[in-house]
Amino acid sequence: MKTTDCTDPVIHIDPTLCTGCRRCAEVCPVDAIEGLPGEPQTVNADRCVICGQCVQICSVYASDWAGSSPQEGAARRLERIQERDMPADIREPLFAAYYSYNLNKVADMMTKPGQFRIVQCAPAIRVSLAEEFGMPFGTLTPGKMAAALRRLGFDRVYDTNFGADVTIMEEGTELIRRVTEGGPLPMFTSCCPAWVRFAEIEYPDLLDHLSSCKSPMQMLGALIKSYGAQLDEVEPANIYSVAIMPCTCKQFECDRPEMESDGYRDVDEVLTTRELAYWIKQRGIDFANLPDEEFDSPLGQYSGAGSIFGVTGGVMEAAIRTGYELLTNEKLPKLQLDFVRGEEGIRVAEVQVGKLQLKVAVVAGLQHAYQLLDRVQAGECDYHFIEVMGCPAGCISGGGQPKLMLEKHRIEAYRARKSSIYGHDAAHQVRKSHENPHIIKLYDEFLGEPLGHVSHHLLHTTFQQRGPGKQSRSSTISTKGDTGYSIH
Ligand code: SF4
Ligand code: SF4
Repeated sequence: MKTTDCTDPVIHIDPTLCTGCRRCAEVCPVDAIEGLPGEPQTVNADRCVICGQCVQICSVYASDWAGSSPQEGAARRLERIQERDMPADIREPLFAAYYSYNLNKVADMMTKPGQFRIVQCAPAIRVSLAEEFGMPFGTLTPGKMAAALRRLGFDRVYDTNFGADVTIMEEGTELIRRVTEGGPLPMFTSCCPAWVRFAEIEYPDLLDHLSSCKSPMQMLGALIKSYGAQLDEVEPANIYSVAIMPCTCKQFECDRPEMESDGYRDVDEVLTTRELAYWIKQRGIDFANLPDEEFDSPLGQYSGAGSIFGVTGGVMEAAIRTGYELLTNEKLPKLQLDFVRGEEGIRVAEVQVGKLQLKVAVVAGLQHAYQLLDRVQAGECDYHFIEVMGCPAGCISGGGQPKLMLEKHRIEAYRARKSSIYGHDAAHQVRKSHENPHIIKLYDEFLGEPLGHVSHHLLHTTFQQRGPGKQSRSSTISTKGDTGYSIH
């Protein structure tokens, strides 16, 4: 079994390429980029939350090395490719800010005999992967992605969206329990590993406010090697489980020592959207002309609620769709909850759920989290439930997504990906996690009940202090508020 080491730095800046423009420092939410203007920058790994936003924005790359002959230039490029653990034949420019690649490790493991190879894909990949093949921003391609993953050699193609549906069952139940049994409140979501790491470094005294739920990726990983192994009649030890994520922080999460059950790692390795795209190209797969294929059942069958986890506000919307019905025993009159949708750094609302006036907040981008957390620390924050996602528009804008050089392209792409995710949700017949028949079956056949003994063992986790407390800036930004919202 793989040993775990979540202390290796993931994000790097190549001092031979960095010009010290400090665009990376401007987007870093935790001031982890250090250095003088005009000089090479460094990443303070103790503070870095691995969101990858600096990698996304870096526009300095090696086209050639001044004064080098073509042979020397090629040798220097190869040296850097090896340092980054990228495939030797990679053609993309080498930018100064980069993250470590896992593709070589995964491609090697895929050739080992006797393994049952399983892959899962995050909600935000299906609206961005096609961009790497020249298609317009936000093109939705779940079917082509499933087909490509089978051609890369996976025996089962499952979906993190199913894990998102499970998360709603567990997190929604946890919220109801905290609201009715005395907290601690507010409860924060825990599905973004950059946010979790941020809380562990900057606000360790608030860790009991985080939901104990593992992220959808880790939940699905644990289910793949337990429930899934039983259904497929394979030994968990023979399963090689890979996750495709839009995120540079997910490998860190996957390597956390606590992310295992019964001696098996929940997930063995993580690849980003860009790594998957490169792998597809490297294998000569004609992505654009692949036929659409289905995800495998049951762990690849998801509701519309599971699919909106990829965008800021999505976890909150999915949780309210289920929480409302579980608390009131009434049908939610309207599924599209506009008050949590939007682009502001903080959005707040009060929602009438039966007799309860539920106060919720959504935070997009960690630089905006300080403000709310300071209020929670001071005992001045009376929200019940707060969603925090590390990246500015949620996972559709993750550090592992296709790299876009221009600000106007990033804005256009984030809007198109978001609209595509909401369209995908609207096209689903089942749009609430608790109505997904495969989720109902999972609880009937295997888990028993949300927060039950088996769930607790496989799907919940703990957090650990990683720093002395808040060291960096506070933010004061305007908040979009919608108080007294009533779902009728
Ligand atoms: S990965 Fe995120 S937290 Fe780390 S240095 Fe880059 S922008 Fe800052
Ligand atoms: S918002 Fe999504 S992509 Fe960004 S750090 Fe969090 S989980 Fe990763």
